[in-house]
Amino acid sequence: MTRILICCLVLAAGCGQPRAAPAPAKPAGAGIESDAVAPAAPGEQFVASRDRQVFHRPSCKWAQRITPAHRVVYASRAEARRAGKRPCAVCNP
Ligand SMILES: [Zn+2]
Repeated sequence: MTRILICCLVLAAGCGQPRAAPAPAKPAGAGIESDAVAPAAPGEQFVASRDRQVFHRPSCKWAQRITPAHRVVYASRAEARRAGKRPCAVCNP
């Protein structure tokens, strides 16, 4: 009885691992791309409008719509967040 139980546990553990391994493989592949994009390039800045709660990459079409009078520039994502801004859903800064 005990042996059967142990066998089941081993099988269950054996089944669980190979299943878990391939699953993150695909997201990891996609993650490499987003990881390459996510860290800001050295010297990259982020822009936001004074009267909006969203910040952008300077290349974002929405960032380019911000008039110079309203434009606020942040040296980093963290700085923008500290100012209460949220990342833009379009350019995903
Ligand atoms: Zn944007």
